[in-house]
Amino acid sequence: MSKSTLGIIGGGQLGSMLAVAANKLEIKTIVFCDDIDAPAQNFSNEFIYGQYNDQSKIGEFINKVDVVTYEFENIPYETLNKINKIKPVFPKPSINRIIQHRLAEKDFINKLNIRTTRYASIKKKSELESLKDLLPGLLKTTTLGYDGKGQHPIKNLEDLDSLNLDYSKEYILEKLVKLKKEISIIITRFDHQKYEIYEPIENVHEDQILRHSKIPAEINDKIFEQSKLWATQIAEELKYVGTLCVEFFIDRNDNLYVNEIAPRVHNSGHLTINAYNISQFENHVRAVCKLEQISLKKITNAKMANIIGDQITIYRNKKFENNEFFFDYLKKEIKNKRKMGHLTTLII
Ligand code: ADP
Ligand code: MG
Repeated sequence: MSKSTLGIIGGGQLGSMLAVAANKLEIKTIVFCDDIDAPAQNFSNEFIYGQYNDQSKIGEFINKVDVVTYEFENIPYETLNKINKIKPVFPKPSINRIIQHRLAEKDFINKLNIRTTRYASIKKKSELESLKDLLPGLLKTTTLGYDGKGQHPIKNLEDLDSLNLDYSKEYILEKLVKLKKEISIIITRFDHQKYEIYEPIENVHEDQILRHSKIPAEINDKIFEQSKLWATQIAEELKYVGTLCVEFFIDRNDNLYVNEIAPRVHNSGHLTINAYNISQFENHVRAVCKLEQISLKKITNAKMANIIGDQITIYRNKKFENNEFFFDYLKKEIKNKRKMGHLTTLII
């Protein structure tokens, strides 16, 4: 087993936790990020600051690493593709291109005969007027959204007038699912039919931002099995290498829908750091660096709470119990709605 240098594009909390996991495996990390204050530089061996289209910085990064991964899906396809011609990038840039575009992503899922909510592409306002049966719905930008950014609830067509949307962008209109609950599946694919899959995680969002996650999810056996099967089918179809998250909706009639795919480690999987023998981050590093696959074992049930905005100041001065694990993302600036840290509580 040769130890390599892992390049991580993106320097937020996911990049930080990937670097920590790599370090544990004695893999060196170099983080490349367009934010000079990127918190992951506190955890990586080296940090390169540059824009994602800065050719000389990308060149420097490529020279220093053996394999490359990324912490979020909104990195330009051209950048990932360019790097992939010289050093392997996992997950493959072509996968990211599908998933970073909400329409291409939903078309891909439906081709697998996996249920999503109903949706339509919107390029101009008049198209919306003929889609009344998708209301109430959510209008989302097709690219670059996260934590509910770029999303607008539409109850009726009058709502559109007050929005003043920029129709030079492309949108997707999704029918609103009457949610009973949300769950996610985190799966790490190593190779053909080689997976480690975590049990379904139950998630609570507020204002479209994840607030709480827990295992076990309170769901019936059918949903338990179906969600795992669908996540496995998606990972296999993509020939994915690394950790992937599938977010699901469960409606009031217990129908399961895929909401979206995150081609990366995911916030809902943070509890795997403490609740499993191998975290989602370690599994990702193992898969992309071609290290040994180890069978997953759950240690205990757990719950995770995101710490958002200025809540972090309370936690920074708090004492914790033995079953509580506080993670401070060390972000320089506290911002409203910004994820600043999380607390995992093991339920022993
Ligand atoms: P993001 O990329 O911001 O995570 P999502 O599409 O996952 O975007 O939306 C964030 C949250 O908003 C979801 O987890 C869910 O709570 C709510 N939401 C999004 N789309 C729908 C929908 N079609 N029906 C019901 N709730 C939705
Ligand atoms: Mg989401």
